[in-house]
Amino acid sequence: MLSSSSCRVAAVSSATALFSSSKHLLCKNFTYISNPLCNNSLRPIRWNYRNSRMENSASRLVTRASAQPLKNPDELIDSVETFIFDCDGVIWKGDKLIDGVPETLDLFRSKGKRLVFVTNNSTKSRKQYGKKFETLGLSVSEEEIFASSFAAAAYLKSIEFPKDKKVYVIGEDGILKELELAGIQYLGGPEDGEKKIDLKPGFMMEHGKDVGAVVVGFDRYFNYYKVQYATLCIRENPGCLFIATNRDAVTHLTDAQEWAGGGSMVGAIWGSTKREPLVVGKPSTFMMDYLAKKFGILKSQICMVGDRLDTDILFGQNGGCKTLLVLSGVTTLPMLQDPKNSVQPDFYTNKISDFLSLKAAAV
Ligand SMILES: [Mg+2]
Repeated sequence: MLSSSSCRVAAVSSATALFSSSKHLLCKNFTYISNPLCNNSLRPIRWNYRNSRMENSASRLVTRASAQPLKNPDELIDSVETFIFDCDGVIWKGDKLIDGVPETLDLFRSKGKRLVFVTNNSTKSRKQYGKKFETLGLSVSEEEIFASSFAAAAYLKSIEFPKDKKVYVIGEDGILKELELAGIQYLGGPEDGEKKIDLKPGFMMEHGKDVGAVVVGFDRYFNYYKVQYATLCIRENPGCLFIATNRDAVTHLTDAQEWAGGGSMVGAIWGSTKREPLVVGKPSTFMMDYLAKKFGILKSQICMVGDRLDTDILFGQNGGCKTLLVLSGVTTLPMLQDPKNSVQPDFYTNKISDFLSLKAAAV
């Protein structure tokens, strides 16, 4: 969590100022404000500093009632038209499908609900995620999948990232594939994982002066070459954007322990540049705004279902949606009920297949 002073700094960062050269003016209509809980929400708005300050102070005063156990699934189903699901810890765990998921998704579809799957994991593209769903026996179309790799490319498209500029990528294949599909030039990615720096006296690393954005996602091949290259681009290229797919502290590479997440790579670049990233994944509202616009959905008609309080549930709350926490992933009931926890979803339940058992019990 950022300090309030860094939040204020993030709150007034303006993309208008980032690309000051008139030739490469990006985001001329957009500025960015942090969400009320300082998670670097990326919200393209027409800037009104006074109003935004008021909105932020008002939002901080909102206190939420403690989460209620899900007792009446029909009521929740009937009150929304779209369910957005986080994937890991909700649909699957690692490469294993969570019990009862196919039948539960069938139930939602039979009720005419729109289903959307959102993940902060940027290592795969939408197409690659589609294959994962297929392998697990789930029928999910690419249009229903929104990964943070896609969000990064969608964001750059939304600000009309200049065709003559390139993106330097710290991250894996998913980001490269999505940038390619969006027609955006890039460099870096996995191939820089092998690169080493030979620190001879007087050695100076060159970097591309045409890099207009650095995108940082989870990267198993992270190294000092990438840190230095990204740092040079952000510090020395006028207006270079610093975009993070997410700031997750941990991820689940194996089911044996928690592993350092995308936030560790983003943190390294923050450390060397002292620049706040523009976050496009959860809990930033960028994806929610994008989804609402794409499908023409009212946010109050969406229920966000996830296993993490600091990403999924905040993502839903920042977007003005209903929220359901499932305890099949990283959050336990004692964690939810800890007095120090300030993020309370509307409802919680053990796993999404509880929709089936609760309905059966009610008959
Ligand atoms: Mg999850």
